Amino acid sequence: MGEHAATDRRSGGGGPGRRRLLIAGGATAAVGVGGFLGRDALERWWWQYGAPAVPRTEGEVEHEGAEWVPASTANYRRASRPRDYGVDRVVIHMPEATYDITLRVFQDPSHGAAAHYVVRSGDGHVAQMVRELDVAYQAGHQAFNERSVGIEHEGWADDPSYLTDTMYESSARLVAGICARYDIPVDREHIVGHNEVPDVVRVCPGPHWDWDRYMAMVRSAAGVS
Ligand SMILES: [Zn+2]
Repeated sequence: MGEHAATDRRSGGGGPGRRRLLIAGGATAAVGVGGFLGRDALERWWWQYGAPAVPRTEGEVEHEGAEWVPASTANYRRASRPRDYGVDRVVIHMPEATYDITLRVFQDPSHGAAAHYVVRSGDGHVAQMVRELDVAYQAGHQAFNERSVGIEHEGWADDPSYLTDTMYESSARLVAGICARYDIPVDREHIVGHNEVPDVVRVCPGPHWDWDRYMAMVRSAAGVS
């Protein structure tokens, strides 16, 4: 809730005096709602007010060949990563739904969550729904959301038939690109399943996700041994 209050205040205009007032008001509100606001968070707020946001072009995507299918703005938080939050994790998901339904759900403002990317099972087609600049509500953990890029893979955790070579390979190329952009090591400490996010109890991406095969593909796509 505090996050949304902060976002709303960020859009307020006015000169430096007005901005300072808004920051103070925002900080007070956040402390009241969400508890102690740490020094790091305060410094980040100062940065966010003091520096212009990264310029954006509507429809631009980070992954070559991805189709831009924007998620509802209610399902992520605007940011300027990696300038305000460092990106050092990729989170692998399985939505328990088809590709089309996953897109629709992430476009629904009442859902409260979305991933950056959705990969289709049959042909490996990639939809980008949230810019990597932004914090998508995908990992169920605030610090992890801020530091990670989330990818959904069409299918069900208990049905291995959706796990096609085409989807794995497409996802591996996507992840290799993300790792290159943020200098993320290509290993299982940095590329994790949703079920491996701290404090999260989820069967996602599920027992059939073939990590050995997938990581070999990511390493190959990234050109590392
Ligand atoms: Zn998940």
